[in-house]
Amino acid sequence: MSDRLIYLPLGGAGEIGMNAYVYGYGRPGAERLIVVDLGVTFGDMDGAPGIDLIMADVAWLEANRDRIEGIFITHAHEDHIGALGHLWSRIKAPIHCRRFTGALAAHKMEEQGQPADVIQIHEARPAVVQAGPFAVQFVPISHSIPESAALIIDTPAGRIIHTGDFKLDGTPIVGEAFDPVVWHQIANEGNGIKVLTCDSTNIFSPLPGRSEAILANPILDFVTSQKNLVVATTFASNIARLKTLAEAGVAAGRKVCLLGRAMRRMVSTAQETGILKGFPARSAPKRLPICRAKSHADRHRLAGRTSRGLGAAVARALSRPPAQGRRQLPVQLAYHSRQRARRDPHHERVFGNGRRCL
Ligand SMILES: [Zn+2]
Repeated sequence: MSDRLIYLPLGGAGEIGMNAYVYGYGRPGAERLIVVDLGVTFGDMDGAPGIDLIMADVAWLEANRDRIEGIFITHAHEDHIGALGHLWSRIKAPIHCRRFTGALAAHKMEEQGQPADVIQIHEARPAVVQAGPFAVQFVPISHSIPESAALIIDTPAGRIIHTGDFKLDGTPIVGEAFDPVVWHQIANEGNGIKVLTCDSTNIFSPLPGRSEAILANPILDFVTSQKNLVVATTFASNIARLKTLAEAGVAAGRKVCLLGRAMRRMVSTAQETGILKGFPARSAPKRLPICRAKSHADRHRLAGRTSRGLGAAVARALSRPPAQGRRQLPVQLAYHSRQRARRDPHHERVFGNGRRCL
């Protein structure tokens, strides 16, 4: 029997979240394998009450562990990296990614007691990672988290492009801009592209995507025009948005603070890996300055950013009443609270719940 190329999505195809894909090449039943992304999705009260994390079923991978050449991570969003620490012990293959993603992957592994030294850091294209019959390149692509990568996967059967998530943004504020020239080159190399596995989130929107750069002035105008505390929620991983918000806060003469462990970890990781420079906020308050603001007037001069994972957690955080002795963001109805979230079916629902609570 002749060799064949296989594609097996264990999660992420036809759904939002839980990205986990397998590519294989070789004799049928004995193909050598690579895994692309190991993410989670989040339960909600409608579909999976009481469940925090949902992961791909990797029983087949576990049974064929000796055929796996490596795990490639496109970027550090939870739905691409969140299951690494939980599932790696069943797969035990080297993990390949770029620097910022690798630093966050190391946290994921260590949190679950797994070895972080299986993570191998690679430079972007033209660097090539050889993994059995696969030659893989990380191609920078803009997205709402720095250092996102599409993968070029060259196989004896032809070239596969696995885009990961992407946004065609020529001015992403932080991270690498989308470069159409590079993609023209990639499409025209060798025998061209045999397979494109493409992100489809928001594919039904008829409108072009907007650049992160267009937000700076409206956000500055908004923050400047407010008399009271300004609270902005966003994904902790949206480093560019954090930078825009922090700079607006400083320009408006406010103190800026980050709230939440995930937020502080993302910013410090971005700083340590050289992704984020000149971030104006005090990034890791041991005791939240917002809670020690003594007077009403003090609170007026603050601008906070908070994130608790995906939208469901943000909704919970904003709707929860302040508890005695807890480090709690004192959001009051009189204050102006802004939320922004990517529109997808999951977020529509959970953010709707959050708004009702406010
Ligand atoms: Zn993503």
